[in-house]
Amino acid sequence: MPEQLHPRKTELGRILVLLHNVHITKGTMTKENQKINEWDLTSTNLHRISQRKYEVAILPVAAVEAHNRHLPEGQDLLHTTHIARRCSEMAWKKCQSVICLPTLPYGVDCNLLSYPLTIHVSQPTLDAMVREIIVSLHTHGIRKVVIINGHGGNDFKPLIRQIQCDIDVHVFLCNWWLVASDRYNQIFTKKDDHAGQMETSVAMALYPQLIEPNVAGDGKARQFRFKALQKGWLYTSRDFARLNDHCAAGDPAGASAEKGARYIDLVCRRITQFLAELANTPIDENFPYKP
Ligand SMILES: [Zn+2]
Repeated sequence: MPEQLHPRKTELGRILVLLHNVHITKGTMTKENQKINEWDLTSTNLHRISQRKYEVAILPVAAVEAHNRHLPEGQDLLHTTHIARRCSEMAWKKCQSVICLPTLPYGVDCNLLSYPLTIHVSQPTLDAMVREIIVSLHTHGIRKVVIINGHGGNDFKPLIRQIQCDIDVHVFLCNWWLVASDRYNQIFTKKDDHAGQMETSVAMALYPQLIEPNVAGDGKARQFRFKALQKGWLYTSRDFARLNDHCAAGDPAGASAEKGARYIDLVCRRITQFLAELANTPIDENFPYKP
């Protein structure tokens, strides 16, 4: 190609490269889902799958809901998809036998429905979807499934208890925000229950272009009037409309991309390690316990 027509060296070429780079950093369209990845069910194909033996399936589950005023409604969908994909890609390098499924976008959100366009799918509906996906995987010979959950309102423990009694599978639940809670206070200065410093930091690290910091509320939430609930030994579901007027429980002040990246890196390293160990461990009669 003549020097003057080389796309990177002409003005038009520079603009095209620039547009391309902008495009790939936006939303979920990243470089890695523009190519075939054998760890990614969305992009691989029958030809490649037929030559592989997959050991572990990763199923990300999220929610579409209000996150204070400044974070995208797709917050849980975006961060959970990112984490599941990144961990699957890293684990693939260690075992070549993990497959990441597309994220189930919706979650249990009946207690946030006062906020416009929050979408609620009931737990039984979600369980039915997850159950049928696990049964499909089992049909294809995959007996180890890891659910990576990104929304506190989703609760898969009863389903896992039941399905392991019904069919010969091992299902593991990972609420990703808890994976590095032992290091939380070394990274963050404020507690985050919903859309506070941690979630805002994660968004700043992963998709800063989707944040509107100027409209953020302070996340100050009304406290319970009963000591037992304040102490946490009694549980009740929270109607988020009664906490404050901006659907948050945690102050986003002090958030930074650097904090978000540190937390996500740690979470991903730990999950990846588990995925690789799980993939490389055969199921015997004592699995998942020691021999
Ligand atoms: Zn969230």
